[in-house]
Amino acid sequence: MSPSAHLDLLAALGYAVFEQSTDGSFHSLGDAPEWLPAGSLMEAFPFLEVFLPDAEAFWADPARDHSTLPSDFWTQTDARGNNLHFCAIAVAGEQKLLLIERTRLRFEQTQAFVQYAHQTKLAHDEIARLGRELQRATEAKSEFLARMSHEIRTPMNALLGVAELLSETPLNAEQGEYVRIFRRAGDNLLNVINDILDFSKIEAGQVELEYIAFDLADVVQEAIEIIGVRARAKGLCLNSDIRPEVPPRLMGDPGRLRQILLNLLSNAVKFTDRGGITVRVKPDADQPAPCTLHFTVRDTGVGIPFDRVSTIFDSFTQADASTTRKYGGTGLGLAISKRFVELMGGRIWAESTPGDGSTIHFTARFSVAETTTALEARAPKATAPAALANRALRILLADDSEDNRFLVRGYLRDTGCVIDEVTNGAEVVEKFKGGAYDMVLMDAEMPVMDGYSATRAMRALESERTGPPTPILALTAHALKEARDRSIEAGCTDHLTKPITKTALLEAVHRYAPEHPNAGRIHVAVESWLKPVIPAYLEKRRGDVAKLRFALDQGDYATIRTLGHQMAGSGAGYGFAEITEIGGTLEESALAGDAARIRDGVDALDRYLNNIVTE
Ligand code: ADP
Repeated sequence: MSPSAHLDLLAALGYAVFEQSTDGSFHSLGDAPEWLPAGSLMEAFPFLEVFLPDAEAFWADPARDHSTLPSDFWTQTDARGNNLHFCAIAVAGEQKLLLIERTRLRFEQTQAFVQYAHQTKLAHDEIARLGRELQRATEAKSEFLARMSHEIRTPMNALLGVAELLSETPLNAEQGEYVRIFRRAGDNLLNVINDILDFSKIEAGQVELEYIAFDLADVVQEAIEIIGVRARAKGLCLNSDIRPEVPPRLMGDPGRLRQILLNLLSNAVKFTDRGGITVRVKPDADQPAPCTLHFTVRDTGVGIPFDRVSTIFDSFTQADASTTRKYGGTGLGLAISKRFVELMGGRIWAESTPGDGSTIHFTARFSVAETTTALEARAPKATAPAALANRALRILLADDSEDNRFLVRGYLRDTGCVIDEVTNGAEVVEKFKGGAYDMVLMDAEMPVMDGYSATRAMRALESERTGPPTPILALTAHALKEARDRSIEAGCTDHLTKPITKTALLEAVHRYAPEHPNAGRIHVAVESWLKPVIPAYLEKRRGDVAKLRFALDQGDYATIRTLGHQMAGSGAGYGFAEITEIGGTLEESALAGDAARIRDGVDALDRYLNNIVTE
């Protein structure tokens, strides 16, 4: 193609081509297209004044890596009043070429694209903003629910606890009935709070299942025992049937499984006036794995209308709104159960014949756990209150609520425990510094210093002493798992959620009570420069106890004499005058060959070493 043919083609495509002369002016190559305004190039397109400096720099730049440099689009009105759109393109090469393009289509496409990009960005920003707002709202809701639950649980702790204490006092029949109603209403209220809290956690995606070994029969039995009280009161029979093919010991989340069974059983009792309820467990026939189980809870109650059978698992839904007042409930129990079942890899559904009763089915996946060892099976369950009697533990109780302190005192009244009370974290730390306590019961939220900071401070103090750490039990009204994690992280031994029943408190105190209570502890102040070597010194003496007993059995008085002599010489130097004294006695008795006195001396040393706490 000849150069002029190229120019014709460009003109046909809407381009005019100019070359810059050495004097800086531009002249047209080829015929000027009819849309080109009259006059010199700069007169025709005043916009070029903006672009030309860039074009000059581009032509002059030896490192330019583009062969063309386009300008922005500009718009001019022609003699007939039409808006025309243009763009200039500097072309690199031997000549300084400038193309002027009439760009109707490209301009419109670009404009549409720019607009689209702009709108997309706006939409994106809006979505991001709504997302942030939603996140804030969800956080605020969770925070609000956790706080409300805390605020309700704190007085509930006092109400339910006092009702429990009251029920243990002599009451006439009428008073007894009032207290029962009081306790039942409190329990119901607590269930509602727990449901709402569970539901909000599920909504926020915060539920994680446990994976631990458990006995299926125990879980079913516990649920039946809890609901059995209500079933008996209504004259209903309550049975369970676990098929022999079901593995007895499973791995999974027994707590959540119990919660599902409790929900279904409590509905069954609520909606049944006559007949009975049966829980059945068998392997799921649709699944080959032996540990996918099929549970059914069958009742002979009012049943569920046909058209509501599938909607009862939705949140806040009750089969018949008109029965709501008669039966009560939040409509959350089944929605929560459904989520738990799904997390366990199963499904839940209902079958019902109105008037004849309902069967709620669910499946759930577990794995087989190793069977219980014979030892575990024989281990007796602790009977806490009896076991605690006369332990005379020294307990430090920290709670700013007078009511809650009253309650703990009441719960521990007959156990012989001695309780010191304080009302804030700073006081706990002060008391802890000065006293020898067997256990600390610590409210989490207190003025001045909260329970978490106080626990940290106490653990730091303990790290400078010898002796076992003091059990610190957090008592909080926070029911979420994070609250438990927070307590454990701060150094608490365990976490009890208010409202705390008498049995739960006694069990926990019993479980964590030290074997050698502080009541019999011997506190010895040692000089600070000796502190680093004290643990090794005492450990050595504990080793001596075993050596002494062995030597006594062998009639090896020479060894006893040597060990006694060493102790007599070193004890007081480390601050343990008692060891020096016992050592002296042992040395003397070994010389005299007095086995009985040696035995007493070794026992005294053993006791002393077991009860010593250095500060
Ligand atoms: P609620 O707190 O109202 O019991 P649930 O989610 O546990 O909430 O149950 C939702 C609804 O499903 C109940 O209100 C009731 O109408 C219906 N329902 C559940 N179980 C049964 C049952 N065993 N018999 C009859 N109706 C039932």
